Amino acid sequence: MAVYDKKSLKAEEFINHEEILETIRYAQENKHNEALIDEILEKAKPVLKGKGYTCAGLNHREASVLLACDIPEKIEKMYSLAKEIKLAFYGNRIVMFAPLYLSNYCVNGCVYCPYHLKNKHIVRKKLTQEEIRNEVIALQDMGHKRLAIEAGEDPVNNPIEYILESIKTIYSVHHKNGDIRRVNVNIAATTVENYRKLKEAGIGTYILFQETYNKKSYLELHPTGPKHDYDYHTEAMDRAMQGGIDDVGLGVLFGLEGYQYEFAGLLMHAEHLEAAQGVGPHTISVPRVKHADDIDPNVFDNSLSDELFKKIIACIRIAVPYTGMIISTRESEEVRGEVLDLGISQISGASRTSVGGYTEEERPHDSEQFDVSDQRTLDEVVNWLMKKNHIPSFCTACYREGRTGDRFMSLCKSGQILNCCHPNALMTLTEYLVDYASEETRERGYKMIESELEKIPNEKARAIARENIECIKNSDRRDFRF
Ligand code: SF4
Ligand code: SF4
Repeated sequence: MAVYDKKSLKAEEFINHEEILETIRYAQENKHNEALIDEILEKAKPVLKGKGYTCAGLNHREASVLLACDIPEKIEKMYSLAKEIKLAFYGNRIVMFAPLYLSNYCVNGCVYCPYHLKNKHIVRKKLTQEEIRNEVIALQDMGHKRLAIEAGEDPVNNPIEYILESIKTIYSVHHKNGDIRRVNVNIAATTVENYRKLKEAGIGTYILFQETYNKKSYLELHPTGPKHDYDYHTEAMDRAMQGGIDDVGLGVLFGLEGYQYEFAGLLMHAEHLEAAQGVGPHTISVPRVKHADDIDPNVFDNSLSDELFKKIIACIRIAVPYTGMIISTRESEEVRGEVLDLGISQISGASRTSVGGYTEEERPHDSEQFDVSDQRTLDEVVNWLMKKNHIPSFCTACYREGRTGDRFMSLCKSGQILNCCHPNALMTLTEYLVDYASEETRERGYKMIESELEKIPNEKARAIARENIECIKNSDRRDFRF
């Protein structure tokens, strides 16, 4: 039997089945142990150190105890701690992005995704470079600066050369004042060599969802195709890091397996990357299984209630305070609104989850990967965020300034990153307001920026931000950043 070892590079050792079962048992035994729960909550509190906050985070066992606890008063404490951590490290900023589907050709058999090989009636599309240009222009015209590209796994239709060429095309489009400044990539697990090529192409984060950490379920849910290889998939982030990509994004598809198992697995994966590669995940995504084409989410009997979903998000926030958390338009406006305070730091807006969807007048459904719950325009989402006192940020500064991997994490852990995030959010929001916003959104945004500028503690930084904001308003100069 494999033994748990978070430093090991073998999937069965760092995502160890016995350790997860033992963690779930431990959490069940202690879910009413109030003294232990208080101790765990105390350990996770942000502590003011010098000019910024630091946070100890929690290991998978401690966090699993919090998740198992059903004492209402303790749950309230978890929520307020999650909010405190969110505010200490991310302030009231929310980073915006959009997915861009390049191709839905796929040779895998994932039973929860309509792009699976056996789906013969879904329309298969692969964008040409010209079509990518047009999609990017449409995204730039909305105001997006950060994309996550998505493509099915298909060595013939979507080889790495196609992905690399597409990234080059995306970065090359500059329509009016538009720019895509960060391309994150969500493609199948691949080789160290291919990861190196992606790094050289200037990608931001490499995103790969584990779907489920439970190997038995994983093998059943991925019955055919290269993705069936659980170990190769689970060890992908280590290969990505060996290939030089130091910002990686984890995620599970909640609803496929028991949430306690996924939660422990996700945190063990984060602990493993920190122990074995020296840097934890840059982001964690929390998608839930949704309806799409021939996929009925009710077939999966592990679906989560909204309440439980919120608790999971809060517990992840508490456990890994330095990892950004992402929620997509799979979730409704209402759910998205509630989880923003609990730890989400990045959301997509105005997403089209079909191949070529942004250049269509009406939202197309023929090649959608999942139904979009939140169908608002980007302007509506931006306006809504500001009404809720969140600052929509289009910032992409860090990796362009070389702040990635452990460099980024050490700035995060010393609290210094906040000196960059806040002014960058205000400057990129100004770009959005000047170039793309409706009158109402612009007016609200300018007021917010005025009051938020006052919160930049460093006098010099405040003066520079103010000057740059004026420059954006009065000229075509863009892309100021700290
Ligand atoms: S989840 Fe990804 S790998 Fe699986 S069928 Fe869908 S596109 Fe293909
Ligand atoms: S400064 Fe860096 S961490 Fe902060 S919002 Fe911009 S890219 Fe993200």
